[in-house]
Amino acid sequence: MPWGLLKYGLGRRYPAGPDFPARPEFKPRYDVVIIGGGGHGLATAYYLARDWGITNVCVLEKGYLAGGNTARNTAVIRSNYITPESVRFYKESVDLFNDLSGELGYNILYSQRGQLTLAHSDATVRTFRMRAEVGKLVGTRIEMVDRRQIREIVPCLNMDENARQPILAGLWHRDGATGRHDAVAWGYAARAAEYGVELHQRTEVTGLEVERGRIAAVETNRGRVRGGHVIQAVAGMSSVVAAMAGIRLPIRSYPLQAMVTQPVKPFLDPLVSSSGLHTYVSQSSRGELVIGGGSDPYELYSTRATLELKESLIAHTLELFPFLANLRLMRQWAGITDMTPDYSPIMGESPVRNYWLDAGWGTWGFKATPVSGKRMAETIAREQVPEILRPFRLDRFKTFDLANEMGATAASH
Ligand SMILES: Cc1cc2nc3c(=O)[nH]c(=O)nc-3n(C[C@H](O)[C@H](O)[C@H](O)COP(=O)(O)OP(=O)(O)OC[C@H]3O[C@@H](n4cnc5c(N)ncnc54)[C@H](O)[C@@H]3O)c2cc1C
Repeated sequence: MPWGLLKYGLGRRYPAGPDFPARPEFKPRYDVVIIGGGGHGLATAYYLARDWGITNVCVLEKGYLAGGNTARNTAVIRSNYITPESVRFYKESVDLFNDLSGELGYNILYSQRGQLTLAHSDATVRTFRMRAEVGKLVGTRIEMVDRRQIREIVPCLNMDENARQPILAGLWHRDGATGRHDAVAWGYAARAAEYGVELHQRTEVTGLEVERGRIAAVETNRGRVRGGHVIQAVAGMSSVVAAMAGIRLPIRSYPLQAMVTQPVKPFLDPLVSSSGLHTYVSQSSRGELVIGGGSDPYELYSTRATLELKESLIAHTLELFPFLANLRLMRQWAGITDMTPDYSPIMGESPVRNYWLDAGWGTWGFKATPVSGKRMAETIAREQVPEILRPFRLDRFKTFDLANEMGATAASH
């Protein structure tokens, strides 16, 4: 990271040009067509080119690059999940994030400051113990901490034993981090474009042609595109796009909201998250407090913000940090999150040959951007799903071989 910054500082050329290359006309055929110009689609394009030399690739984005959930998330990066399969997967992503600014020559404002998750009940303390042991087994930096240690890590937390939900213990994950979400996508886009990947913004996929069980072409608002392989990485529109190929995904889509306050002098270094209060808080590099919680309780394709959510998030945040009561809220927003039954993604093969899925990213997919891009590129290049992605295959819902992460995902994304 310091070398990356030094390179950035001394470089003669600003890493991103004023714009990405102008949108070209379609070629007759691409080796790979990527639907979705968010972090996942762009990272896949980059690793296809860098790791496998596959550059006859186009990314189709209906709006502008990183305008979907990539620009709407709260930027939490962590690997403290429940199942060893998930911990291994997200840990690989954290490892990739550690060097990403240097690798892309693009400052993603990566800041590894640790994440503290609070337990307010005996049952949560028990599951935290389990998560700590699984994490250590797989090699993440994670440990249980008691009330005294919590006071040292975040001195300004409300540790009142008579609080409505007193803090009993915590799970301290030193690898917890944040990064600038849209810069991650811009960095991947800039480097992928240098390899010759075509970025087609304002290009909406409207249909998928399947011939004899194999993907044949993609229809867009600008005409038809042929591709040897097609991958969808469209986050909150996964079911809608998959249905164009006749694929039904076990996904329900809910809005997820978040908000930021006015900037204040930095006082909160780690990320703080409470499963009992369904809220999490971090302080951005600009000093704003970034506050989030669980998804809305009903399915909807809408990115409106609601008063109910604002009230409950503020109330819960003030239980943890009562001294913030006079802070002003600056913005509130929402994205659409595609939730699977086990709160894990769906990655790899689909029932349509050469049509690949990177879907079901719910509330937790930003942190997985590097590993998803890298491993989906490998999957397509080798036409074989690597071991690390196998737990997330679509047919696990038929065999009931689930990777259940609800307890580690619901409130702290
Ligand atoms: C409020 C909020 C907070 C979150 N917080 C976190 C967090 O702290 N940590 C974390 O890890 N994750 C978090 N997430 C989840 C995370 O944002 C997503 O899982 C992740 O960004 C998904 O990336 P993506 O590239 O797959 O999707 P996106 O960034 O949404 O990109 C998909 C793209 O596909 C395009 N598209 C859709 N349909 C079509 C079509 N028919 N044709 C062409 N293009 C199409 C869209 O325009 C979009 O740009 C949060 C999400 C929200 C909404």
